[in-house]
Amino acid sequence: MTTTVEIPSVGGFAEPSQTPLALLLLGRQADPNSERGVECPGDLPPASDPDLVERARAAKAALGDRVFILGHHYQRDEVIEFADVTGDSFKLARDAAARPEAEFIVFCGVHFMAESADILTGDTQRVILPDLAAGCSMADMATAEQVAECWDVLAEAGIADVTVPVAYMNSSADIKAFTGKHGGTICTSSNAKRALEWAYEQGQKVLFLPDQHLGRNTAVRDLGLSLDDCVLYNPHKPNGGLTVEQLRNAKMILWRGHCSVHGRFTLDSVNEVRERIPGVNVLVHPECRHEVVAAADQVGSTEYIIKALDAAEPGSKWAVGTELNLVRRVAKAHPDKEIVFLDKAVCFCSTMNRIDLPHLVWTLESLVEGRVPNVITVDPETEKYAKAALDRMLALP
Ligand code: SF4
Repeated sequence: MTTTVEIPSVGGFAEPSQTPLALLLLGRQADPNSERGVECPGDLPPASDPDLVERARAAKAALGDRVFILGHHYQRDEVIEFADVTGDSFKLARDAAARPEAEFIVFCGVHFMAESADILTGDTQRVILPDLAAGCSMADMATAEQVAECWDVLAEAGIADVTVPVAYMNSSADIKAFTGKHGGTICTSSNAKRALEWAYEQGQKVLFLPDQHLGRNTAVRDLGLSLDDCVLYNPHKPNGGLTVEQLRNAKMILWRGHCSVHGRFTLDSVNEVRERIPGVNVLVHPECRHEVVAAADQVGSTEYIIKALDAAEPGSKWAVGTELNLVRRVAKAHPDKEIVFLDKAVCFCSTMNRIDLPHLVWTLESLVEGRVPNVITVDPETEKYAKAALDRMLALP
């Protein structure tokens, strides 16, 4: 079922004060400065067009090496079929940077990923997001204004000087730039441990943005901090809902953000699948809640999950807690293993799923006709500081 929500817009941007919930549902956030771009003109071929696959093939062939299509692991099969490379967001941004001859980078993923690709690719390359409504609810949970306000709260508590910001890759370019400006680094779900170790060598506390679960799981599982060392900063409450004493005592200040897909899995999901499938291995992403991660057999990034399932013994049983498109694809690739989704309820990333074959065909055919739609551009000042934070990550030991 498709839900249609009217998005009031001003100058191509969602109006900040209106229908924030609807904007969030559509992956468009309420902060115009962190969701730059233009509206998708929307003159799309119908999804029922039987020629879509052929049209996509023909347009891609006509563009040749001028176009490079990136497909995030959570994309639909119909889109992945046309991807030149697949991967997680950071791998894809690096893959794009390694193809300077490609004039157009079509990013089948979400908005913050296209921003990162724009930051890491050359000035002459243009990064295109086939549907501008493909945002990320987690990235949208930390706006530049909220994070600046949080930093003021830390300064008033006298701890900003000893706090190092660490931002997850899944954040807007503005948040990455804030992190770069304040001496922090970016991390992925693969290198969060190393990023936090580095941060604690630079300062006494970490402000982790925007995913509370990845921050908490890494701090407690990998660095040996206690849950009491972590506090949760709620941007919707005065002073983050924390006292000065709580902030001063904390080692890890977690931003109150989460992934709407991975945050769905519960301890009940784990208990239920263990009862249903005796001997099952529970494998989850570190964006899941702490109690889910603590009850799992293995925890790791998307790339880790794929490798673990590739290497698993034939006949072994797995319940996987990550996005459903990926779980289905891996299960299909390994019919000799029993691979099921951790939760009984269907759980796609709704914003990732906005990129479909009609949007891809529309994008490619527009390029063939000489129109360049939905270009994602990060302004030079933001890019400078965001790149500083990304470079710190690349330099991590
Ligand atoms: S899966 Fe979660 S973190 Fe990834 S794009 Fe969707 S909402 Fe964002």
